Amino acid sequence: MNAPSSPKVFESRRDPAPLRSGADFLADLKAGGRSVYLEGERVTDPTSHPAFREGARAIARLYDVARARENREIMTYVPSGAQTPALRCYQIPRSHADLRMKRLAAEKWAETNFGLMGRSPDHVANFLAGFAAKPALFAAAGEAFGDNVVRFHEYAQNNHLYAAYAIVPPQIDRSKPAHKQADPTLYAGVVKETDAGIVMSGGQQLATGGVFADYLHLSCIHPLQPGDENYAVSVMIPMNAPGLRLYSRRAFALQATNAWDYPLTSRFDETDSFVVLDNVFIPWEHVFAYRNIEICRDQWWKTPAHLYGNHQAQARYATKLRFLLGLAKRMNEATGNDGAPPVQVQMGELAALASIVEGMLHAHETMATIDEDGVLWPSRTALYSVMALQSEINPRMIEIVRELTGAAMITLPSSTKDFESPETAADVERFFRSASTDAKARVALMRLAWDFIGSEFGNRHQQYEKFYGGASFIVKMNMFRSYDFKRAGALVDAALSLPPLSED
Ligand SMILES: Cc1cc2nc3c(=O)[nH]c(=O)nc-3n(C[C@H](O)[C@H](O)[C@H](O)COP(=O)(O)OP(=O)(O)OC[C@H]3O[C@@H](n4cnc5c(N)ncnc54)[C@H](O)[C@@H]3O)c2cc1C
Repeated sequence: MNAPSSPKVFESRRDPAPLRSGADFLADLKAGGRSVYLEGERVTDPTSHPAFREGARAIARLYDVARARENREIMTYVPSGAQTPALRCYQIPRSHADLRMKRLAAEKWAETNFGLMGRSPDHVANFLAGFAAKPALFAAAGEAFGDNVVRFHEYAQNNHLYAAYAIVPPQIDRSKPAHKQADPTLYAGVVKETDAGIVMSGGQQLATGGVFADYLHLSCIHPLQPGDENYAVSVMIPMNAPGLRLYSRRAFALQATNAWDYPLTSRFDETDSFVVLDNVFIPWEHVFAYRNIEICRDQWWKTPAHLYGNHQAQARYATKLRFLLGLAKRMNEATGNDGAPPVQVQMGELAALASIVEGMLHAHETMATIDEDGVLWPSRTALYSVMALQSEINPRMIEIVRELTGAAMITLPSSTKDFESPETAADVERFFRSASTDAKARVALMRLAWDFIGSEFGNRHQQYEKFYGGASFIVKMNMFRSYDFKRAGALVDAALSLPPLSED
């Protein structure tokens, strides 16, 4: 195995660097020297490997969108005391208007990939903003930890970095806590402490976007128990740190025979990677929480990090649902069923579900509160209510689209080549058209729909929407903790203490 090059040192600066371009991002990724494994081999340059090349370009486009002059107001902000702009996702919102701008920025990026890249650079950046909004929580274990959180946020913001995260222990044996696994370094944990930092070994799931990111946030969102202290950490690791290995799942882009037949798979596979740490050294400056179960837990719930990150996730999801609605409508038009009242009823149900998600996204903002430090917290109940139901809403919506389209996504020529062959072209042009479009336009639409719903890429998305925010029982517990049961109970008390009617 080739030893990875030493981690890239980003320049530390007070003012943000000039905004990163897509070309800058690709050049950094190419030079990175990370250890990504795919099909038994190490991929050193994701920008040129067919499994990752187009995904990398899709991320590069985000940087270009943020940098375009016409998008500057939405996509960037000037941090207090600075002269130059940084990405909006790093902003700590202090007003409802700030959060609105963060939503608009998240939507603008999501629109470039139709909401199909969930862990774009604005996801973990929002977590970093949420941590930096409450440094005192980390400083409870020592002033330096609070400083690290603030400094790292500033550093990532000022260099326009892309971080991914792996915050769930591996599903090796869920019946036992981390420290009682067969081998103490099975789950990512501390194996050594030095004056300069800590050394970690073990596995953690599941770094979506990790193949493309600059940094990995490694921590644990699962409940830990006494004895699990070595696993109760929150650290930032450069993706090319010696000993950090990413095991990518199957690369769907490799299965896309061409971009016409697989318009989404070929462009927007954001990748998911299992992370292995093999004696990875992490300097103290990159440690936010160290062997502290309470702080490791509270970083998610007693800072607005989880709310900011998932506000972005919901802006992305609402964009994806808008795309789904557009797709379903176009398919109905192509099949000639659009005017049928029963089809319109089904479309009404789809529109209702999409509008609930969108409406609640706005409710995160309007119901947000501002704390004693002037930090804005999006509404927990508005956020977690949709997240808790997402694993039911999403399959329901996909099911309606499947229902509406009958065999339309299947009764298609085998590939774009059937349009080109003189033996097949005439039949294909004649029988695969719709009343309103020629065959090429109809087949392109149905291929797009199949790639969204039925391909391996499409199916991974259903799993993603179910689990990206944690298993639904965990999200429902978040909702249980957030809901105002006191107010609800007061109504019951009022009903129970109604005065007797005069005729009683
Ligand atoms: C496509 C995809 C992308 C992801 N991206 C990321 C990422 O970028 N970063 C990251 O850190 N993680 C990511 N995840 C991982 C995600 O956070 C986890 O999948 C999620 O937290 C659920 O954990 P698990 O998969 O280990 O399931 P488990 O916790 O093992 O749960 C599996 C199922 O078991 C049942 N179950 C288990 N325990 C209980 C219980 N106590 N009560 C009731 N039912 C129970 C439930 O049915 C549950 O759905 C991703 C996951 C997917 C699928």
